[in-house]
Amino acid sequence: MVKTDLIRQQFPMLVQDPELVYLDNAATTLKPQCVIDAIQSFYSQRYGTVHRGVYWLCQQATQEYDTVRAQVQRFINAKSDREIVFTKGTTDAINLVASGAGNVWLSPGDEILITHTEHHANIIPWQQVCDQVGCTLVVAPVMANGHLDMVEFEKKLNHKTVLVAVGHISNALGVEHPVKQIIQLAHAVGAKVLVDGAQSIAHQAIDVQALDCDFFCFSSHKLYGPTGVGVLYGKKQWLDELPPYQYGGDMIDTVTFEKTTFAPPPMRFEAGTPPIAQVMGMGAAIDFIQGIGLSAIADHESRLLAYAYDVLKPCPGLRLVGEPTTGILSFTLDGIHPHDVGTILDSKGIAVRAGHHCAQPTMQLFNVSATTRASFGVYNTTADVDALLRGIQYVQSVMT
Ligand code: PMP
Repeated sequence: MVKTDLIRQQFPMLVQDPELVYLDNAATTLKPQCVIDAIQSFYSQRYGTVHRGVYWLCQQATQEYDTVRAQVQRFINAKSDREIVFTKGTTDAINLVASGAGNVWLSPGDEILITHTEHHANIIPWQQVCDQVGCTLVVAPVMANGHLDMVEFEKKLNHKTVLVAVGHISNALGVEHPVKQIIQLAHAVGAKVLVDGAQSIAHQAIDVQALDCDFFCFSSHKLYGPTGVGVLYGKKQWLDELPPYQYGGDMIDTVTFEKTTFAPPPMRFEAGTPPIAQVMGMGAAIDFIQGIGLSAIADHESRLLAYAYDVLKPCPGLRLVGEPTTGILSFTLDGIHPHDVGTILDSKGIAVRAGHHCAQPTMQLFNVSATTRASFGVYNTTADVDALLRGIQYVQSVMT
């Protein structure tokens, strides 16, 4: 059982403004004090760069930085910390795999399979690589409720499918894809699977070995951690095959003007001075989440979803878009543009996202240009849902 009172006290933004109804957790989460402290104490007490210096500050920073890599390994149950690459975030991680796959795994005529409800970050990198290599982007359809049509998905898989890239949970609809089944089916035709875990990592326990995914990526800022850092998990044998994504310091073995040899993964993919403080902040965020427990968080958020569903569904003029299975609710209000909904809700201290959610094909599918989206985090309560309902009724009274 999540004790939201105690949790809310750990978030300075909620302490400073207890009236804030923050319901944009699918975009980014607020930060607990322990994350802010981890970053501040590193900058103010022990700051140094990593992997480069013999003096104590660098050695200490390197040790803390590498400790977070091992912590992430345990958090998602990877086999080795060598399978954990620090990236700028989910977008960066997907681009890294797409660009490398284009160089070593994809040939003209090959296929990359995605689903209709992907975030742009899990569409465009593949689209670009298809253009460059001459392969085809295949899109698996979803049903009217936004859930993946598994019969159609299976039909789209064939011996030409080299990669399947699938969002674990749709950020626009809150629908979870059956990734375990997807991975089994994809492996049966010899395809590798990348799971975009941006929307699942803070909401359920992830075990990459149990899933048997080939790649899994997420962003720290949706996990109560800082912006500017994220993770790409990749099976060691695949990371070994992928070429570097960027070139520069820290990713080499030897350099001469004639030739450079590269460090093994994960360093090969971490060119330049990394986001050291952010990595430490992410470590504190993982401690924070594990202190509460992901199964308790999942229970809490699914109770909130059920409550919100019951409260909002009967609301006249409100149309839910898709049938969510996780704590994200996308909706429209008859005759009112979502930007107006978002702006008026903001005037009541309610922060929701209004727009296409970087998922324009999903919007096209539901024949809307945008939706209003409320998404839950660990600190949200049924009082937040009640405030949202009152806010929606106020929007309707002002706009109709
Ligand atoms: N995939 C999904 C499903 C997302 O929700 C997001 C963020 N909205 C991303 C990818 C991209 O994450 P980031 O902007 O942190 O790279």
